Amino acid sequence: MSSQPQRASRTDPMPAPGVPRPGFARWLSQSNDVTSVFLAAGQNPDLINLAGGLPEPALWPVDELAELAAEAVRNHPVEALAYGPIPGLPALRDLIAARFSTPTLRLGRENVLITTSGMQALELVGKVLLEPGATMIAAQSPAYLGALDAWRPRDPEYRPMRLEDAGFDPVTALAGAQFAYTVPNFSNPSGRLVPLAQRQALVDAAHQTGTWLIEDDPYGVLYYEGTPLPRLLDLSGARKPGTYDGPVVYMGTLSKELTPGLRIGWIIAAPEMIGALAAAKQGSDMCSSGLGQMIALRAFERDIPGRILPDILATYRSRRDALCAAMHEHLGAHLEWQHPSGGMFVWARARDPRLDTDRLLAHALAHGVCISPSSVFDPEGLDRGAMRINFTLNAPERLAEGVRRLASAIQATLAERS
Ligand code: PMP
Repeated sequence: MSSQPQRASRTDPMPAPGVPRPGFARWLSQSNDVTSVFLAAGQNPDLINLAGGLPEPALWPVDELAELAAEAVRNHPVEALAYGPIPGLPALRDLIAARFSTPTLRLGRENVLITTSGMQALELVGKVLLEPGATMIAAQSPAYLGALDAWRPRDPEYRPMRLEDAGFDPVTALAGAQFAYTVPNFSNPSGRLVPLAQRQALVDAAHQTGTWLIEDDPYGVLYYEGTPLPRLLDLSGARKPGTYDGPVVYMGTLSKELTPGLRIGWIIAAPEMIGALAAAKQGSDMCSSGLGQMIALRAFERDIPGRILPDILATYRSRRDALCAAMHEHLGAHLEWQHPSGGMFVWARARDPRLDTDRLLAHALAHGVCISPSSVFDPEGLDRGAMRINFTLNAPERLAEGVRRLASAIQATLAERS
């Protein structure tokens, strides 16, 4: 061993002790830690996680997916393992175009970009449409936390769209905004289904104002009652014949209808938008996983999502009913909510305005249960009177136990205030 002391040379990448390092970007200090709290909560088996939007792993067709993965690597090593085309494997883009085409909506490969799931779709839209600090997003309110996270580095302004308000006017909402963001099927977090007349009004407003209209649709397959309503994309396509070039930017994902870990999703939009998004994707991840895309392609060809859907619907429907029954029994005095007809969440508002749901989260964790407080779904972080409760991850008995723990946590929170 040398007796010479170790010295920092001029090329040493570590700063000398006491020299400050450049700071992190400003947006990081505005970020929230709720997602990391509930992902960490998933590692604690004693804690009942009602916070995340997580599917039930027992519903995944693991043997069939294992076969598809092995077949893809063995028989299609270039598609599965090489760098692929930025917008996605042509066969998968064609399949998505065909799957979403209707007699009045004509889609081709040029309308489709494969993404590394829905989160990347949101991030790419922010990259191509938002000038830092200078753009307005008209966002369905309350808004999906992940979308707010994806756009935070661009520092946008938000104009909330409260679709349930009697006076809501889509043209006023969209005019002058760079884009409007909606989750028409069983919104995250509110579980709300946007009715047909309002879908049509939003699409008409997008065509009239020219504002891009983002339709984020991870829950479009999860209808537990009723017939699925037309997509904004369908309504927009029906306005003009020919290959689609309208203002709706549709986002789909395999996360809820197959598995989230595949990280495969898609954007359907006008070819000029797909071109811009592909340019943005080049600087994000260059291409989505070829193996994931090959598994997705074969899974669709074999109709795996269609075959497992009845089981998914039956499981989640009965869990929704179990959660709402337990809430009715233990939480009716404290909270009000609507029974959602699909999706993964119940959105519950405190009857007592003194119940602060940010404080409730701390008490809930101490009582062994986790929920998502409303502040994280409000771009300004001001709404502290509601919470999102997930019903897909836990079996009925565990949901009921989670609700009992939540009732105790609510009492503890209110006691602290009085
Ligand atoms: N949009 C919404 C509204 C969501 O709820 C989710 C998942 N929670 C996503 C997008 C992203 O999902 P993924 O990246 O798994 O496709």
